[in-house]
Amino acid sequence: MASSMAMTRSVRGLLGSMDTVCRMELDSLTEGQGPAPLHGGNSVELRRPIEGLGHAELSAWLDARGLPAYRGDQIRRWLFQKHATAFESMTDVPRELRQALARSFVIGSLAVQQRSRSDDGTVKYLLRLRDGNVVETVYIPEADRVTLCVSTQAGCGLGCAFCATARMGLKRNLTRAEIVDQVLEVQRQCPEERRISNLVLMGMGEPLANYDATRGALETITDAASGMAISPRKITVSTVGLLPQMRRLMEETRVNLAISLHSVRDDVRSELMPVNRKYPVAQLLECCRSLPVPRRKRITFEYLLLRGVNDLAADAAELAKRLRGIRCKVNLIPFNPHEGSGFDRPPEDVIERFGETLRARGIQTHVRRPRGEDIQAACGQLYHAAASEDGAGRARVEAAIEQRGVADSQATQ
Ligand code: SF4
Repeated sequence: MASSMAMTRSVRGLLGSMDTVCRMELDSLTEGQGPAPLHGGNSVELRRPIEGLGHAELSAWLDARGLPAYRGDQIRRWLFQKHATAFESMTDVPRELRQALARSFVIGSLAVQQRSRSDDGTVKYLLRLRDGNVVETVYIPEADRVTLCVSTQAGCGLGCAFCATARMGLKRNLTRAEIVDQVLEVQRQCPEERRISNLVLMGMGEPLANYDATRGALETITDAASGMAISPRKITVSTVGLLPQMRRLMEETRVNLAISLHSVRDDVRSELMPVNRKYPVAQLLECCRSLPVPRRKRITFEYLLLRGVNDLAADAAELAKRLRGIRCKVNLIPFNPHEGSGFDRPPEDVIERFGETLRARGIQTHVRRPRGEDIQAACGQLYHAAASEDGAGRARVEAAIEQRGVADSQATQ
């Protein structure tokens, strides 16, 4: 069937780039080991975003200065719960400490470059990082929840055939601070009553190819005491199926797991997702059977419906058969067309029939309706042509962050 698929381009050969994904070094913005000097040399470039520090790292920084660990909780609450944008506003933190923080760190690693609002209320944020790369984050309000779709890489190197982000290639991994800041920055702009309640790590990039930064960001986001206090039950990490990292994620966190499956036929899936050559369907499903998924949870399988590719009733029957024995549910995602993709969305009756075939075989199935299609914010549509370095953009982010730094240093002198 692979030869008859309506695919317009081969994705063979792209898998080779996958192994290098994890090795991208964080840019110099996050470097800066050891205590900073107490005076002088405080350009924005030398100071790292404080949101990127974990609990232990901030405690160690305080300890090196003879300060008690509880100050760390105070600082974190200002950052993650009160959304402070300047150290000076941390009024219960001693003045000298505020000054030392302002000399060593900045608050913020990105700035909003553009906001696009969909007719359905979805808002797509184009966020510019300090090195000029851009990522997209999507705010999705619903009646009972507000979900933020977060990016974990600038671009992506995994080359899925249907995905607009794949066209960018991988620019680099995001840092822990840049993942956390997407939530913080959008949270600052939300009306109080429409605060972010749920997160999906399904934006640009493969979260598990950037495991450490993703895991660190989740730690800050879920920390109820001094972090953002978003319950892990309301967070879903989506992956193409990087098996070792999937296992680690399930062992180390309590977040939900979603796996982009899209076909249970190796010939079809390998054409759609080069990662399948490394981790074929049988290996992926075997791994799912042995994952330590808590008793009341289910693995979600995402299944993109592509007209004439994977939408036959026989595909649905085979899918149900292969998922037998896995505590799971299936999200059917009718394809969101984007320019040059070469794929189409199946007609409504085909989508309905596919879902019914699964349900008839005992598979919990939900058809996910696209949000933000008119602003290219729906699944698989995230892409930005100007994703490369742009001097003006960099200057704008630096200026925004520098402004906070100046306010801090003026106020703390
Ligand atoms: S679907 Fe996800 S993993 Fe695949 S290329 Fe797009 S962003 Fe990367």
